[in-house]
Amino acid sequence: MAGLFIDVEVDDSIREDAELARRLEEACPVDIYADAGGRVEIVEANLDECVLCELCLGAAPAGTVRVRKLYDGTELKGGASA
Ligand code: SF4
Repeated sequence: MAGLFIDVEVDDSIREDAELARRLEEACPVDIYADAGGRVEIVEANLDECVLCELCLGAAPAGTVRVRKLYDGTELKGGASA
């Protein structure tokens, strides 16, 4: 399920990555990511709080995290470092 304005997708390849779960939880200022015992979990209740800061994209390998702006059909994706 998505937020009204924002949806966040993480690739299956990183869902079970404990290090990335920790990093994403730390990176997001509005707690959209939770480290669920070493698993990346999306906190759906917080999705629409996204401030498009791209910190999550920088915390994960390129292309593994996508922030979709449902209101204009575009998305942020990237990931400068692994
Ligand atoms: S862009 Fe920023 S606020 Fe939005 S999910 Fe990523 S880290 Fe969180």
